[in-house]
Parts: sequence; structure tokens; C-alpha cells
Amino acid sequence: MLKYRCTICGKEFKRDDVKYLCPDCSKEYKPGIPLKGVLEVLFDYEYIKKKFDKSNPDWNLFSAVEPRFYPDYPVGNTPFFRIDNFGEEIGFENLWLKNDGLNPSGSLKDRASFLMVAEANRIKENVVVTASTGNAASALAAVCAADKKKAVIFVPESAPKAKLVQMYLYGAEVIKVKGTYDDAFRLSLEYTEKNSGLNRNTAYHPLTIEGKKTAGLEIFKQNNFKVPDVILIPVGDGVIISGVHKAFYNLKKTGLIEKIPRLVCVQAEKSNAIHNYIQTGIYKNADNPDTIADSISVSVPSNAYLAKRAVEESKGFSVTVSDEEILKAQKKLASKTGIFAEPSSSATVAALEKLKNSELLNNKEQIVLLITGNGLKDIESVKINS
Ligand SMILES: [Zn+2]
Repeated sequence: MLKYRCTICGKEFKRDDVKYLCPDCSKEYKPGIPLKGVLEVLFDYEYIKKKFDKSNPDWNLFSAVEPRFYPDYPVGNTPFFRIDNFGEEIGFENLWLKNDGLNPSGSLKDRASFLMVAEANRIKENVVVTASTGNAASALAAVCAADKKKAVIFVPESAPKAKLVQMYLYGAEVIKVKGTYDDAFRLSLEYTEKNSGLNRNTAYHPLTIEGKKTAGLEIFKQNNFKVPDVILIPVGDGVIISGVHKAFYNLKKTGLIEKIPRLVCVQAEKSNAIHNYIQTGIYKNADNPDTIADSISVSVPSNAYLAKRAVEESKGFSVTVSDEEILKAQKKLASKTGIFAEPSSSATVAALEKLKNSELLNNKEQIVLLITGNGLKDIESVKINS
């Protein structure tokens, strides 16, 4: 039987006894600070150990929602491949790329939205609500369209046009917020407190982490059941890195692997709250998280505590890159690999370039860049001929 456990106090709950955060620890939460009392999903690892067969693997054993509730909308199974040309160019011999920009709505966020709509089916809820910088919103709108659900979306009015176009075409109710993602987050919480609807806010609902977990499971599967040495992950709210960590944590708990890959938290210089937290041990909001990488632009990362834990437990580290480095890396990646990644994802490439002569990475290790969003979603940020 599936259970939730509070990541702060450790209290366990049956999944239908609690919906979002730990009721005790979230009493200390107020908008403007990272979420307190984020829940993690506990599985029966002994059961999975007995049932999982590598020759005929059933990945649904790792799913927090039963497959009968899944929307009829395939997500994931995106390409994972070696990029030798680019690796040679920047001096890494075993460089790989996971292209999650090829999900149906163009970002990794489809994975979380898919599982949240499955959960909405399970609890018979027809409205799903979210705040987003753009990608989670367009992902939720897409999956809701496919599954006859209503998506209610709070989004900063500065979101890239292509992402707004997606939301409208998919038929979502879009509320543009004069303010930042953090303002949109607060308004969406108020909405679901006053009205009905399932809140899909990232980390606020524990299944958003579980949905993103599938990217990590897929890397393991596509890497022939081997664990890469390092994965570079763009970090805004800190949920994707927690999801990838959860994948390898689950694989370890079920005896399928012995070690977790080192996870590298990549942030933009101005949107660096989690990076600072990892470096100093003291949490502080990013004062002015103004970056061209809109998908990772956040002042108050909702999942800061778990993201730090993911980096530390994996023996990884964090790094920041400037907007200028991101744009250069975006162009280099596109021209050497044919992959057009949005700025947030290009930040992983910029980080790799920055780290090429550092002792933090060995140039013979298997290194994976997680590309979380398609560049076509944000063409305004591209500098032509730069
Ligand atoms: Zn708690």
C-alpha cells in the first residue's frame, strides 16, 4: 500500500489521508519561503524487488498511480544518446544527452502533468490548477486537453509567447499575473483553497516529484541498466533534480543499483537561491531572479530543501552560469548536435564548459546533460548572429 512520508518530521500518512503537504510541518509555511512539509512517496521496496524482472521490466511498479488511471496521452520515452562531436569539441570523452524537449508539449513537465491527471482520474476530480513560468502550464493544458479535464493556469504575463499560445490552443483557462512566478504560485494556492480543483503546483503536490522521476528511470533503462557517473540538471524550483534523485534512490532501495549518480545543480547566476543554500548552508531567497532562462527563474524555490538533499546525498555539487554563457552554449549545442534547447536547458551546457578544467568532473566519466525544454518555446531569447 502506497504511503506518503513527510520529508521534515518523518511522519507517515496513507495516501488518501493527506493531499498536499504534511499538516503539522506546513503550519510554518507562508508564501515567500520554500515549502515546508513536502511529502515523498514510499513504495513497498521488497515487493518491487520480488516482482521486477530485468528481462521483462514492468516500470509501472515504480508508479505512484495505478496504470488504469493513466491519460491516453503518451509522454516520455524521449531519446538518450551519445554526443561525440560536441564532447570532443569541449573535451569530454563520454558525453550523453537526454532530450526531453521531445515530449508532446515540448518539455519534461509533461511527465508530472501526466501523473497529476492520472491522480485526478483516481480521485474523480475534473479541474487541475497550477502556477507556472510556462512549461508546467503548457504541459498541464496539453494533458488536460487529451483527457477532457479543465486546466486553470496562473502564469506571469512575461511568459514566452509560444508557451502562452500553447495554453490557449490546448483550451486552458489562463490567468495572467502581473508579477513573478512566486506571485502566480501564491494566487494558485488561494484559488484551490477557495474553490475545488486539484493543485498541481510543483512540490506542493508530492506526485509532481514522482512524475519527474520517470526521466531518471528512463536514463537507467536506456543506458542498459547502468548508472551514469554524472547528470547535469537545470534547477529552478528544485523539483526535477529531486525527481531524478528519487528515481535512483528507488532503484537503490530495490537492489537494482548500488550507487546514485552525482547530480549537478545548474542555476542561472541571478536565480541562484538553491546554489547559495548548497554552498553556505543558509537559505536566502534570490532577490532579483532576472534571467533569460525563464524556466528556472524563481525567487523562492518551492523545493529548496529536497533539492539540497538530492545534491548532497548523490555527492554532487552546484554551479551557476551567466545569461551570456547560456546563450553562447545554446548556439554551440544547436550547431554541433542539431538539438535546439531552451535557455534553461542550455545552462547545463554552459556549466559543462565552465567545469571542463575543474577537478569536479573527470573527462572520461559518463556525463549526461538533461535537456528539459525545447528551444522553439522561446525564440525571443535567441540572439541571431551573436
Ligand atoms: Zn511533517
